[in-house]
Amino acid sequence: MHLIPEAIPILQDNYIWLLRQGANAIVVDPGQYQPVADYLQQHQLTLRAILVTHQHPDHIGGLAELSAAWPDADVFVPVASTTDKQLAGRQIEDGDLLDIAGWQGSVTVLGVPGHTLNHLAYLVDCTPQVLFCGDTLFSAGCGRLFEGSPAQMLQSLQRLAALPESTLVCCAHEYTLANLRFALEVEPENQALVEYQRHASTLRSGGVPTLPSQIGLERSVNPFLRCNELLLQQRWSQPDALSLFTFLRQWKNRF
Ligand SMILES: [Zn+2]
Repeated sequence: MHLIPEAIPILQDNYIWLLRQGANAIVVDPGQYQPVADYLQQHQLTLRAILVTHQHPDHIGGLAELSAAWPDADVFVPVASTTDKQLAGRQIEDGDLLDIAGWQGSVTVLGVPGHTLNHLAYLVDCTPQVLFCGDTLFSAGCGRLFEGSPAQMLQSLQRLAALPESTLVCCAHEYTLANLRFALEVEPENQALVEYQRHASTLRSGGVPTLPSQIGLERSVNPFLRCNELLLQQRWSQPDALSLFTFLRQWKNRF
């Protein structure tokens, strides 16, 4: 089944993602209530499930109101780490397979620690597969390390990078152009990057999201997925992938 994820823009640069199958919908990270409610009403959709990647306010701001308005929708949330309050909903973790009432096909839960320790990603079984990766993987970039270590984040990103290249990548922020400016500093001779920047600039100047991206594209343009490249390690005088990742993430924090 071919499904096209839709981005509902909110706040400064967040996207709430919505996936529909006929008249049924799944929503990911409802940072606000009203834009989702309006979308569901305009398109006459039934909300079947709400998926939460992590507990930052811009991802859950509309969660309580949305689940109150749709009491039959399943709410899937990460198990709280010690510092958080547990969100209301079904607590899930890496490897779980979600069975959603009214939805054909499964959704696989991936534990991707780094941005937060209990950050989850969701992989929807359709053709092509759809990945909701929250603040872990961005187009041409990755999330900041608020709780996890560089080693955890690198492992999480490598796991996502190993998905089939046609996998649609639905990130929670429109950071692509800023990430590309950084990526071109890291790897100015990468022709795929130059072309992608041109394409992304055209999209943004028309007010169009650059997302979803694809895993295959990210493998060729995202410096944080390219830490195994020996030429990049040599260029930045780093002995291995983890050193290069740590170096790039620290550099990007100040960029
Ligand atoms: Zn976050």
